[in-house]
Amino acid sequence: MLQFQSLATYGVEDLVANAIIYGLLATTFFMLFWVVYRKKFQPRRIQKKRKHPSASIRLEIKNSIIALMVFTVIDVLIYAAQLNGYTQIYTDIKQYGWLYLGFSVVLMILLHDTWFYFTHRLMHHPKIYRAVHKVHHLSSDPSPFAALSLHPFEVMIDAGVFVVFAFLFPVHMAALWIWQLTHLTLDVIGHLGYEIYPKGFNTHWLFKFKTPTTHHNMHHEKSNGNYGLYFTWWDRIFKTEFKNYNQVFNAIHEKVAKAEEESKIAA
Ligand SMILES: [Zn+2]
Ligand SMILES: [Zn+2]
Repeated sequence: MLQFQSLATYGVEDLVANAIIYGLLATTFFMLFWVVYRKKFQPRRIQKKRKHPSASIRLEIKNSIIALMVFTVIDVLIYAAQLNGYTQIYTDIKQYGWLYLGFSVVLMILLHDTWFYFTHRLMHHPKIYRAVHKVHHLSSDPSPFAALSLHPFEVMIDAGVFVVFAFLFPVHMAALWIWQLTHLTLDVIGHLGYEIYPKGFNTHWLFKFKTPTTHHNMHHEKSNGNYGLYFTWWDRIFKTEFKNYNQVFNAIHEKVAKAEEESKIAA
């Protein structure tokens, strides 16, 4: 009974915390780019024609709420396993030290990126696509709320990596939160619809391995390429990166430079 109460409390706290974080992130980016500074950021818009009626934004928000609830159920199940000593989640940082904590966050990001790339490609298999991944692709011109616009089955597949983390290697609660926060922030930015990464990001010796917003936006527009989440390397290795990815990214920055030039002349 005591454990049930503790799980219920954990579930409510987990849902509220995730909903606040996701809600704040998605709403802030949406208000800044899609509403308040819409004109100012117009040159940074990735897709030329705005195909995003308000009905699809409502659908993205509804799907995100359902996804957050499914994530909570998984979090509670893992917490129950933790309470009964089945996971490797630990609470005393001194047990493994700060260096290990930092290392575990990097490891989770690398593993999650790998998990995402391969499960994402699997979800594009015609036999699975309609039942699992189609919901996410209803947003062909995504808004920040598309980040968690996922079918519950897709949430379960995505959260599968969390199960791996909790059981495979020691992971501190703080590391899990840092990873989740990083993931949610980058996911919201990846669905922003506007390119916020700077000019030359795609060709920089190091940053070219990080996906800018254009990378995932092209996946939503065309579907059969750019499957990566945080990084570009899996798409490069398996030759699934769109051939015109660099061209599209550069064209946005040409538009930005032109708009800046024009505003200088006007001033
Ligand atoms: Zn997406
Ligand atoms: Zn996809």
